[in-house]
Order: sequence, then C-alpha cells, then structure tokens
Amino acid sequence: FAINMDQLQLDEELGKGNYGTVKKVLHKPTKVAMAMKEIRLELDDAKLNGILMELDILHRAVSPEIVEFYGAFFIESCVYYCMEYMDAGSVDKLQGDGIPEEVLARITASMVRGLKFLKDELQIIHRDVKPTNVLMNRRGQVKLCDFGVSGQLEKSLAKTNIGCQSYMAPERIRGESQNNLGTYTVSSDVWSLGLSMIEMALGHYPYPPETYANVFAQLTAIVDGDPPELPEHFSATSKDFVARCLHKIPERRATYAELLEHPFLVEDSTREVDMPAWVESAVEARQNRTREQIQAAQDAMS
Ligand code: ATP
Ligand code: MG
Repeated sequence: FAINMDQLQLDEELGKGNYGTVKKVLHKPTKVAMAMKEIRLELDDAKLNGILMELDILHRAVSPEIVEFYGAFFIESCVYYCMEYMDAGSVDKLQGDGIPEEVLARITASMVRGLKFLKDELQIIHRDVKPTNVLMNRRGQVKLCDFGVSGQLEKSLAKTNIGCQSYMAPERIRGESQNNLGTYTVSSDVWSLGLSMIEMALGHYPYPPETYANVFAQLTAIVDGDPPELPEHFSATSKDFVARCLHKIPERRATYAELLEHPFLVEDSTREVDMPAWVESAVEARQNRTREQIQAAQDAMS
C-alpha cells in the first residue's frame, strides 16, 4: 500500500540536514511511528515521478542493518520519504567524548554487514557513510540510512556544503573516483567507514575545522596528509582495522569480506556487549548536554 500525507500525524522535529528536515510522524492507520524526511527540489512532475520510481528499490532493502523504508510521495516539488523511526537517533549525537572500544566494535560490525548487504544484494554503493547516517534504537540495534539509490535525486540535490566535514575519500576529493560510467567504487565507502570510526572514538570530526585556515586547507590535509588514527588508548587490533580502511590508495583498502574476518570484528562476535545499556546512558548524557546548553543560553540572556 502507498503512504500519503493524510495518513500522517506530525510530531516533533528530529533534526535538520543540508537538504531537508526530518520529523517524527505517526502513521495513523497502522499506529507505526515513522521518521519523515522532507527534501525540497525544484523539479517538474515527470522528474519527481522518476525519483519515486527509483526509490522503489528501497522496498527490497530489508536487512537488520538497514533502516526500513515505508514509502515516499511528493507534494509541490517536495519529496517526502518515510522510514523506520530510530528512537535513539544518530551516532554523532550519542558519541559524547568518544565511544568505548567494545561498543565501537559492535557498531562497526553492523555497519560493515549493512554496507556488504547493500553491495552484494542490491548492487548499491552507499556514498554517504558518516555518523549522522548511522542510527540506533534503545534495543541497541545499529542501522544505516541515506544511501544513494536514486541518480535523479542525487543530481537534483544542490551540493552546496561540500567541505566543512568531508567524509569523502582522497580520490573523490581529487575527482578521480568517478570512472567513465560515473560510478563510485566501493572502496570510497570503506574510507568513509574508517573516518567515521575515528570520529566515533574521538567524539568529534577527525580534521577539526579550527585547526585549518579554511576548507581548502582541510581538504588538502585529507588528500596529502597521513591518514588519521584511533586515539592512544585503543587496542593495536582496532588501530590495525582502521588502518586497513584508511589507505590513501583505494586499491589497498580492505574489502567488506576481509573486514568481517579481521580480528577486531571476530573478537567482537564472541564478546558480550550490553548495547541497550550503553544506548540508555548515551541518550541520558545527550539529554544532560542539551539541558546544560539551554541553561547556558538562558544565563547569557539574563
Ligand atoms: P546531511 O544533510 O549532510 O546528510 P544529516 O544526515 O544530519 O546530514 P538528515 O539526513 O536530513 O541530515 O538528518 C537530520 C537528522 O535527523 C540526523 O542527523 C538524525 O539525527 C535525524 N534522523 C534522521 N533519520 C532519522 C530516523 N530514521 N530516526 C531518527 N532520527 C533520524
Ligand atoms: Mg542523513
């Protein structure tokens, strides 16, 4: 069945990205809580219909590591995209001052399985791997969202904010990785996975903007500098895993099959990690940070 706006009751805003707003909604006929992403595009109906058709492939993206897709529709040049609501939100807002190694391993394992599923089962390369696109719920599940399935949608997004926080691999920044067919290689996603892991471990983006005079200097550091590493207190095994992702030369990066066999993930699969408990504490810490920010803002005004 197809979802439409009349069936939805709008709740609070969950976040804003470069291209649109995500709101929590209730699908009234089924009582299912969903996340609805609104993307504004100045396109004619034919193009919008094309996007909806391309998005249809998402109905086949059913896996424990992929955020479920419920459907999409458009109203007046806005595409509305409905997906599974993840009640702990994205990892960037849960990471605090950095995620402990055992939790990082569990999150990474889900990410690698999710990326491998997309590639093997649907021939999809994610193209936007980063902590804001890794979502968690209170059951401790980790799922990926916002992967590139629609060429038309991709083309129609005004790519204004390149830079700032780039998770792009060096070869993509240099503009090499698009071959004649215009396809990205899967190894660019492996770089973004490694960079996301470091961000989760540090609690902030690994090339902090305040260190660089401008975006150009920051991108130059990604292309010409040594790849970043996990913080000191992480194990040699975890550091090796990240190094296997962050090779400057794309061909040298590990494949998903190799990553799944790496001791970092093999050890994870035999270890007990209480993910729901970690999510619980991370959500609480996030709420406290928000409360402190509101308090600080109020203090500044009075
Ligand atoms: P960008 O625009 O660069 O992709 P982004 O991923 O942060 O950045 P959006 O995809 O628009 O932007 O998402 C905005 C925020 O909404 C996310 O950071 C996340 O915290 C929240 N969010 C997105 N999807 C869901 C979901 N299914 N469940 C819960 N929260 C979500
Ligand atoms: Mg996103």
